[in-house]
Amino acid sequence: MAFKLGMSSPDLAPGDIELVHQVLQTPYLSMGPMIESFEKEWARFTGTRFAVGVSSGTAGLHLAVIAAGIEPGDEVITTPFSFVASSNVMLYQGAQPIFADIDPKTMNIDPNQVEDKIQARRAQGGRVKAILPVHVFGQPCDMDALTELARRYDLTLIEDACEAIGAKYKGRDVGTFGHASVFAFYPNKQMTTGEGGMLVTDDPEYASLFRSLRNQGRDENGTWLHHIRLGYNYRLDEMSAALGLAQLRRIEELLVKRDRVAQMYNQRLARMERVRTPYIAPDTTRLSWFVYVIRLDPSIDRDAVMQTLEQNGIPSRPYFACIHLQPFYRERFGFREGDFPVTESVARSTLALPFHNNLDESQIDLVCETLSQALMSRTAS
Ligand SMILES: *Cc1c(COP(=O)(O)O)cnc(C)c1O
Repeated sequence: MAFKLGMSSPDLAPGDIELVHQVLQTPYLSMGPMIESFEKEWARFTGTRFAVGVSSGTAGLHLAVIAAGIEPGDEVITTPFSFVASSNVMLYQGAQPIFADIDPKTMNIDPNQVEDKIQARRAQGGRVKAILPVHVFGQPCDMDALTELARRYDLTLIEDACEAIGAKYKGRDVGTFGHASVFAFYPNKQMTTGEGGMLVTDDPEYASLFRSLRNQGRDENGTWLHHIRLGYNYRLDEMSAALGLAQLRRIEELLVKRDRVAQMYNQRLARMERVRTPYIAPDTTRLSWFVYVIRLDPSIDRDAVMQTLEQNGIPSRPYFACIHLQPFYRERFGFREGDFPVTESVARSTLALPFHNNLDESQIDLVCETLSQALMSRTAS
């Protein structure tokens, strides 16, 4: 079949490409004026005092975990329903991710489960130091409850906002609740730099530490061969920063386009039997559409549905797979099926459909009609 839809696709305007070209006509390909502007405008966009560009969202999360003072043997409460990076960053520090199960509707970490885990670990002498919630699929977590838990138990709060650029909880931007928060710009995100990420914080000490850590542990002035701590090369280059800056200047347009595509899906799928369209929590004043994920009734054979879609040139993905059931996590920590029942049942039900800014009505029609046919012929026995 010649026709093939993409799962995701960046939205690049001529002006975005032009700004990258401009960088290539200067000698400044790293640590130049583009990253400075990108950081300044990003801080204004999220409403934080500081923004620090890094080479990926994962790099940003790693630095946030280091800044929180997470050391070997420490524990960080996080969600098993996420992209694996949000949990791997604890392992980079020799620390332990402690998973808490999720809310079945929002698919975000459940604050009651978080509190149970904090109390259980502390009762057993565990060293819980931080909470790392993930705003899954662009829907903000229950930040009132999580902020209160962080305060009550004296924990650092790190927001993984990598899927939630521009999302708002009770009118307030995600990324402004945590001691540090991280956004990401991989090409499937709401906006892209190719590879890249952004740390935000209101704490000047964190900001200066992030600048040092991303730059091989150099001091604030970036003195050439003078290293005051163990650092990394997590810098964001100028071409990437230029693309990010141009995309950020169009972010409202990008988010509105994504919302339009999501609404087209919502309209067509609202009455489809045994399919649930994405849930939006009452406290979510803006969901930032990252992907479009439907939930299938357990009576449906998801693999067969995916196969039928694929045969018609339509890709789809189960999204996410549980982190605790990844081979590496099973081996290292001995996790088994049944450990996090809500996460596992949600993970069995999800299906991400093709989603990007420039899908048109006829393409959405095709996806929805093919899905409808696949559902009729593919019921689990
Ligand atoms: C995209 C993403 C990241 C960061 O990914 P990078 O590819 O390293 O930029 C982290 N956490 C979540 C939940 C993500 O979706």
